[in-house]
Amino acid sequence: MAKTRVVFHYPRTLIDVPVVSRIAREYDLDFNILRANITPDAEGLLVLELAGDAAEITRALEWANAQGVSTQALEKDVVRDDDECTQCGVCVTICPTDALRKDPVTQEVLFTPDDCVACELCVPACPPRAMAVAF
Ligand code: SF4
Ligand code: SF4
Repeated sequence: MAKTRVVFHYPRTLIDVPVVSRIAREYDLDFNILRANITPDAEGLLVLELAGDAAEITRALEWANAQGVSTQALEKDVVRDDDECTQCGVCVTICPTDALRKDPVTQEVLFTPDDCVACELCVPACPPRAMAVAF
């Protein structure tokens, strides 16, 4: 049995479509939702662990792509250079998982790598380029 972690980026038009349950049923896959950030008026993001036959996982992802869901293997890490971070807070408003958030007391911008799904939204948005993709 193969296992993979994958990020699904949903366009707004597909948020009501049961893509995950469909691929589980059609391709005989087990799934575990590791993180979800879906609102009716915005793009959605799901982090899934899929388990099943490797060829079926590939076919399921191809099917999801054909529906308009972009998929990305969760193999990369995003890191922060704390020396470069100026605490400007720009990344806090765009991080979909709250991996980057402000400490309510100190207002310090905190980065929690375990909550990061490597969507990379913060990388180009960070003015001093403190956020980077590590392979
Ligand atoms: S890549 Fe950046 S924006 Fe995306 S989840 Fe990780 S910290 Fe948040
Ligand atoms: S956008 Fe960059 S510099 Fe600003 S708080 Fe986030 S990581 Fe730090």
